[in-house]
Amino acid sequence: MEFVFKKKYGQNFLTNQTIINKIVQSIEPTNKDLIIEIGPGAGALSKRLKQYGTHLICYEIDQETRLYLDELEDEHTHIIYDDFLKRDIMSDIRAYDCNRIFVIGNLPYYITTPIISKIITDKIPIYEAVFMVQKEVAERFVAKPNHREYGAITVFLNAYFHVSKLFDVSKNYFIPKPKVESAVVKFTAKTEKAEIDYSKFSKIVKDSFQFKRKTLKNNLKQYDTEKIEEILKKNGYSLDHRAEEIPFSVFIEIASKF
Ligand code: SAM
Repeated sequence: MEFVFKKKYGQNFLTNQTIINKIVQSIEPTNKDLIIEIGPGAGALSKRLKQYGTHLICYEIDQETRLYLDELEDEHTHIIYDDFLKRDIMSDIRAYDCNRIFVIGNLPYYITTPIISKIITDKIPIYEAVFMVQKEVAERFVAKPNHREYGAITVFLNAYFHVSKLFDVSKNYFIPKPKVESAVVKFTAKTEKAEIDYSKFSKIVKDSFQFKRKTLKNNLKQYDTEKIEEILKKNGYSLDHRAEEIPFSVFIEIASKF
């Protein structure tokens, strides 16, 4: 049987061994840790990840990849054919007694943000994540205030993780060749987590950035702006600033007061 690539699942498989090794070597698990891979595909990363000797759980939506993945399964490597976004990941993890959790994946680009949101909202206690994403998305993740790419997703991510871009990956290193360039990013969980309610935080950040060219005064009309203004002033800002000018730490402070 020949494997047919499915565009609807974002199937662009990595072919370059140097890149595969660089991604796998960007984490340093010990054999007491757990690795979760999202979207193993034909197993390019999984084969190398197995060498760490940890438990490895791979979530793959496409049953036809059994063609490649069946041979990887053993007492340490567990392939789960399911949609990562719908799966109860926490109950899978509970089956293993592990130290730290690493998540890795050459992600299906059409669901990059839902995957990251799920990790945050399901409170999966990850230590570190390394993801291949679209290059423009990577730029957004690491953008600083006043930069064109700084947006709601930058603020969310930086509240939970230290985010860094590791390296770019040319589209020539995939089969089939995607239309866009890629980059590998690393998220390391912050040890001191802000005490914020995710849904409130997410709403106020989204509302703040709703109309990028508008000021906070305009975007946040429905909120108690007096309280917000107080926090902004304390940090040297005002409601006349736009969301893209406000550092993520100030958004966290605002969200923690609602
Ligand atoms: N890891 C392989 C590699 O680097 O060559 C494949 C990466 S490919 C970009 C993305 C993989 O994610 C595909 O195998 C696809 O079938 C799988 N996938 C897509 N949506 C998924 C989902 N919701 N849950 C789990 N896997 C998914």
